[in-house]
Amino acid sequence: MRNALSVDVEDYFQVGAFETVISRGDWDSIPSRVESNTDRVLDLFAEAGVQATFFTLGWVAERHPALIRRIVDAGHEVASHGWDHKRVFTMSAEEFRADLARARIVLEDAGGRAVSGYRAPSFSIDERTPWAHEVLADEGYAYSSSVAPVAHDHYGWRSAPRFAWRPVRGAALLELPVTTLEFGKRRMAAGGGGFFRLLPYFVSNLAVRRVNHEARPAIFYFHPWEIDPAQPRVANAPMRSNFRHYTNLEAMRPKLLRLLRAHHWGRTDEVAAAEAARLG
Ligand SMILES: [Zn+2]
Repeated sequence: MRNALSVDVEDYFQVGAFETVISRGDWDSIPSRVESNTDRVLDLFAEAGVQATFFTLGWVAERHPALIRRIVDAGHEVASHGWDHKRVFTMSAEEFRADLARARIVLEDAGGRAVSGYRAPSFSIDERTPWAHEVLADEGYAYSSSVAPVAHDHYGWRSAPRFAWRPVRGAALLELPVTTLEFGKRRMAAGGGGFFRLLPYFVSNLAVRRVNHEARPAIFYFHPWEIDPAQPRVANAPMRSNFRHYTNLEAMRPKLLRLLRAHHWGRTDEVAAAEAARLG
């Protein structure tokens, strides 16, 4: 069973957790670490012998086109993470369409490949955005991986399906929700991010094994800044955000390598194609 491995390519200061203390207007004045960190991710994937999908901000691709080229040259997929990490539920349908288009042009120019996948910043497609999948289908995307079918303080669409589904009637567009783990009536987003970094290895390993046991692929992600223990600390950030952002950064690289070697991984577009064939 091939599982989908992905990286959300954004800098350490562009995450939702720091939105209240760092404004988008300040981004260009902060020394960037995303290119060197993403190169370390490329090294990690080469070491593990895996290919993956890099959901990249248009804002990052505009400033680091050579990085996009290196991602493509190493056989990975470049997909869209939107322009500047605005969560989908903060936009109107037309703003969302414009955000998608702006990112796609830059990503396709830099990589020289068509972009067919999208991941919403902070899994921000939910009940508040009934138009979002329609816009993606309309714009010709093959798949989205933008839904967390859980109840969580920052995101979540609890009633959405746990596995691949077609969210727009009559359209080929597939939604590949992030992997979840169920314990009784509780359901957690278990496809990477803080879940993987903050909790013991065996819990994430269990999440992948469980969905594979159900003959479904895991949808897993992490960020380049998560393997960068030397990143500067953001001043005045909320304590809870600080905890979530900085814990276990040192342990991340070996932990990832272990997970990459324990399961079969590939690009999200390949997993989407396999899931589309299964759904018929
Ligand atoms: Zn993101």
